[in-house]
Amino acid sequence: MAVTGVDDNSQPAEVVTQDATAEVESGFAGFGLPESLLEALERCGYQQPSPIQAAAIPELMLGRDLLGQAQTGTGKTAAFALPLLARIDLDARQPQVLVLAPTRELAIQVSEAFQRYAACTRGLHVLALYGGSDFRDQIQKLRRGVQVVVGTPGRVMDHMRQGTLDVSGLHALVLDEADEMLRMGFIDDVQWVLEQLPTQRQVVLFSATMPPEIKRICQQHLQDPAEVIIRTQKADASRIRQRHILLPHHQKLGALLRVLEAHGPGGVIIFARTKAVTVTVAEALDAEGMACAVLNGDVPQSLRERTVERLKQGKVDVLVATDVAARGLDVDRIGLVINYDAPFDSEAYVHRIGRTGRAGREGDAILFLSHRERRLLHSLERAVGSAIEAMEVPSDAEINQQRLDNLQQQLNDLLEQPVPQERQQEVALMEEIIQRLSRETEATPEQLALAALRLAQGDQPLLVVPQPQQAPRQGRQGERGERRQGRPNSSMERFRVEVGWRDRIKPGHLVGAIANETGLDGRQIGKITIFDDHSTVDLPQGMPPQLMQSLQRVRVMQKELQISRLDAA
Ligand code: ADP
Ligand code: MG
Repeated sequence: MAVTGVDDNSQPAEVVTQDATAEVESGFAGFGLPESLLEALERCGYQQPSPIQAAAIPELMLGRDLLGQAQTGTGKTAAFALPLLARIDLDARQPQVLVLAPTRELAIQVSEAFQRYAACTRGLHVLALYGGSDFRDQIQKLRRGVQVVVGTPGRVMDHMRQGTLDVSGLHALVLDEADEMLRMGFIDDVQWVLEQLPTQRQVVLFSATMPPEIKRICQQHLQDPAEVIIRTQKADASRIRQRHILLPHHQKLGALLRVLEAHGPGGVIIFARTKAVTVTVAEALDAEGMACAVLNGDVPQSLRERTVERLKQGKVDVLVATDVAARGLDVDRIGLVINYDAPFDSEAYVHRIGRTGRAGREGDAILFLSHRERRLLHSLERAVGSAIEAMEVPSDAEINQQRLDNLQQQLNDLLEQPVPQERQQEVALMEEIIQRLSRETEATPEQLALAALRLAQGDQPLLVVPQPQQAPRQGRQGERGERRQGRPNSSMERFRVEVGWRDRIKPGHLVGAIANETGLDGRQIGKITIFDDHSTVDLPQGMPPQLMQSLQRVRVMQKELQISRLDAA
């Protein structure tokens, strides 16, 4: 191909002057990158090199091979793109840098990053080659002359075999996300590509993990590579037990209550994507009698600080927060982080779970994922470098166990606490009662203690009330104590209303609305059971049709009851 000035190639290649950008004081200035790259970085808003960039760029500028181990989100792309771009001969319009990426999305992403970094460099052309896009269009672009090719192994090999991708001028090959390529079965392809390259070339390999196959490739094809290992927060993450729950969206609130109950005491942060969701979740927790606070962008700074203080002191246990509001939050007593909404990306996830497991403690992190969000799991696992195990919504048995443990712990704490001055007289009188009772009734100490516990517990059942039929979701106070289980008694009929757990109704709402509309006394309204999307109510037999009619339209939590008789009850 003739190198006549078809387009803008009249511009001379950039002259590299080491100190040209001294007054900009960019952290990138010391690497000896051309001015045009520094200018592009400034446009990107990069001020300081990330750790992997700081370690890798100088080695790559020297032309060394490099083996990098780092998780996603650490800035690997610029770590290899900048030094390789700096070494490109703009006058030679043939491929000089080849980057292989495991997926089409990643190839596009990396090529776009190259383009951003090359934005101020005239005459530099980047092309992405991946399956599914027009082959002939790719050939034309290759003919017009590109210096950087980013592609998936399959398509790149096709062009190499056809001779449409000329590799004779390649002086650098990057294997990005090499362990992903291995996982996707590309490892033999990668080997093949490596064997086709000129012997004088620089090979750069990045991988989040180092399985033996990757090590073998390094040994065979890399020459005395510089090794760079970056561990982001990994030391912290190892103390955090990470799990996920797959569940449909409408079950999240119910699952949250169960997870919180099964977790027991201690500080918890719940992450939601939007301010609106933080409020909804907090209201639901409030309704369950849990002390919680909201931390989002609408909360004024002074109040935020007070909230964090209350959390530290244990006056609040549960914080519902957005990502931004909880950035950098450092509270030792956070034992559990709940990703109520999936994080935007792996970086956000790492930040979120990093709120627990602090100061050398253990922590738990639980991620709620819908089936659609499932594919996120793998990239999050790669980002943290560990598995995120599956778990189920805690069962009644687990919640009960936690309630029993709590009770035991509370008793134990009380035994160890001295009686405060102002209560001492009262306690002395209680002691007299105990002594008198044991004299008069021959009750054993155990029997006395049990009676006291039962008295303290009151009408409220200690354990979860087992749910008949399709496991309706109820909080611990979901069922009113005085409303009995089982079939409606003979004088009652069972009805169905179209509001349920997902509308966040409580039995009290239904009692109120029905009593209000029908004039029934609250005591005449029988058992109420709340299911996900509907509820059942027992009402006295023979409700007049007009009353039923008017009940149809009654709204509870902004939804019409649409009451109907359940024949099968
Ligand atoms: P990795 O390949 O390690 O997953 P990327 O190269 O995709 O990471 O970079 C992750 C994000 O960080 C990108 O949005 C990128 O623009 C940004 N980024 C990279 N380096 C810097 C830097 N030095 N300063 C600011 N942002 C950066
Ligand atoms: Mg990357």
